[in-house]
Amino acid sequence: MITKSCVSCSSSPGWGSGFVPVPPALAVPGSNLRHSSPSYLTPLACTLRSLLLHSSQGALLSSVHETQDQTPPSPPYCHVCQVGDPVLRSQAAAVDPAAITGPEVQKVIDNMVKVMRKFECVGMSAPQVGVPLRILALEYPQKMLEESSPAAREVRGLSVQPLRIFVNPRLRVLDGRTVLFQEACESITGFSATVPRYLSVEVSGLNEKGEAVTWQASGWPARILQHEMDHLDGVLYIDRMDSKTFINIKWPSYNE
Ligand SMILES: [Zn+2]
Repeated sequence: MITKSCVSCSSSPGWGSGFVPVPPALAVPGSNLRHSSPSYLTPLACTLRSLLLHSSQGALLSSVHETQDQTPPSPPYCHVCQVGDPVLRSQAAAVDPAAITGPEVQKVIDNMVKVMRKFECVGMSAPQVGVPLRILALEYPQKMLEESSPAAREVRGLSVQPLRIFVNPRLRVLDGRTVLFQEACESITGFSATVPRYLSVEVSGLNEKGEAVTWQASGWPARILQHEMDHLDGVLYIDRMDSKTFINIKWPSYNE
């Protein structure tokens, strides 16, 4: 949703070099990770990404090897990946349930929550911190509710929600009617659009302890869930929006 994100990342969790953010041990054996591995996971793409990063910093492409001492951050990031990053278009892999309580998955979850709170978002998915695993987080703080008008709370169905983590979530539509509201995404910074979402959904999966959980949500929490579920399938709100409602949220300031 209108996500806002993480604190500075700690050191690399040691998930190997390059741009491969998911150690195979964390994904369910036989899951679609290997079969659907996007091209960005290849060494070539990794190299290209390094080149682009350094190039954008004004360095000569040939200087990549000279700057290796400046270790770039590695997933899970403490920033939010931006549209264009292939990780946001990948089909995230299911997490091996036995790995959920392990340090690597816990690190991913911890970063997701930090990023979500830092950027004052109400939802976050693992791909947004660079990890193509099927994990999402959701939280709607009291403070945020207090900042909204009573009318907005009523119309949008806003409600305070505690932090919830879903691993390998499955979504079931409970009310097939859709409602249109403006939404945004921290991975598409500065823009917003009207998106149709189902009124009520049920999510089932595992929590951060690996326990089976099911939750029924309606109103705004249902919208957040659908938005974050989409991230796990490489879908962004711009794929579902009414394109004529797409706006730069600061457009009036450009006329001042
Ligand atoms: Zn998003």
